[in-house]
Amino acid sequence: MRIVDIREKTVPIEADMSNAFINFSKMNVSVLAIVTDEIRDGAPVVGYGFNSNGRYAQGGLLRERIIPRVREADPESLIGEHGDLDPELIWRAAMRDEKPGGHGDRAVAMGVLDMASWDLAAKLAGVPLYQLLSDRARDPRTPATPAERVWVYAAGGYYYPGRGIEALQAEMRSYLDMGYRTVKMKIGGAPLEKDLRRIEAVLDVLPEGCDLAVDANGRFELDEALAYADALSAYPLHWYEEAGDPLDHEALHRLAERYEGPLATGENLLSFQEARNLIRYGGLRPDRDVLQMDPALSYGLTEFRRTVAMLFDSGWNPDRCVPHGGHQFNLSIASAFHLRGCESYPGIFAPFGGFADGLPIEDGYVRLPDAPGIGLEQKSSLAPVLEDVLA
Ligand code: MG
Repeated sequence: MRIVDIREKTVPIEADMSNAFINFSKMNVSVLAIVTDEIRDGAPVVGYGFNSNGRYAQGGLLRERIIPRVREADPESLIGEHGDLDPELIWRAAMRDEKPGGHGDRAVAMGVLDMASWDLAAKLAGVPLYQLLSDRARDPRTPATPAERVWVYAAGGYYYPGRGIEALQAEMRSYLDMGYRTVKMKIGGAPLEKDLRRIEAVLDVLPEGCDLAVDANGRFELDEALAYADALSAYPLHWYEEAGDPLDHEALHRLAERYEGPLATGENLLSFQEARNLIRYGGLRPDRDVLQMDPALSYGLTEFRRTVAMLFDSGWNPDRCVPHGGHQFNLSIASAFHLRGCESYPGIFAPFGGFADGLPIEDGYVRLPDAPGIGLEQKSSLAPVLEDVLA
């Protein structure tokens, strides 16, 4: 068995919305296909990956460095102990001659390749990815069988041009109608007083048993983060996300000393080492705070396995993790590693966001598709985009 082709295509997912830091009107995604010479049902087995939303396509890095290294590797060197193409070995081949540190866009590019490698490995094994991970890749301290359903929350509440509070309330109601019980909205893109009115308006439409998280997308300096923290303390929020710069652990430490409610962060940490620094120096509290590292943006699951082991070793339980991203790769990982949940972006970042067709959100949880691989082809709007990479 060998890889016969690896292709990348850059696809737009633009939307005219903003968080406190960026606008998404020029956003795009790398979609990658690994094609093998293994034939099943008359067609070659293909693994697909893409980068999670919020960071741009990585076609240059993939085409110039990462894909050629895998193509040039001795095919036998990519076959692992199970007799199949092994994601860990593909990962090592792709990272040949790369220095440590400087993670950035390289971590995103590697995440695309790694997602495709794991999709491929699960398809070759003929099982859903969450089952493969539970059988072969989970930490020994993780429960032995994958979770049958995963808690998800609806991330939205962006700032759109000309859109007022009633539209924000209608958006949040629509998430409740879909079956979500926790919703999230952006803050920090408006003055504090205006954001508080937006928060109160959303809380007004949430029934008993539902709650709200807020996300500042790393916008605040410490004084502003603390001012928001003091104001937010008046509300029963699910969490206060990414107040300050993702690498400013001193500021986060100060915030954690001041704000009693749950804090969430981690989506802009792109490596195991950065996640470890967060745990070492961020002052976060293992009994309440939430870690949002997104495997698809940070060297993939192959790297995330090391992060999970580090969390156990550091006195944390991975059930404090709720990965950013809202896609099926992280959903499978959340199931296999018994993470607390997975983000979801209903209706935006289409067609890459969202889960398999025919599996509705039920009381805040979603089940996983029973198909080999990640299950990307089980989403009818995504399947043709994947096939198009090979056209
Ligand atoms: Mg966020």
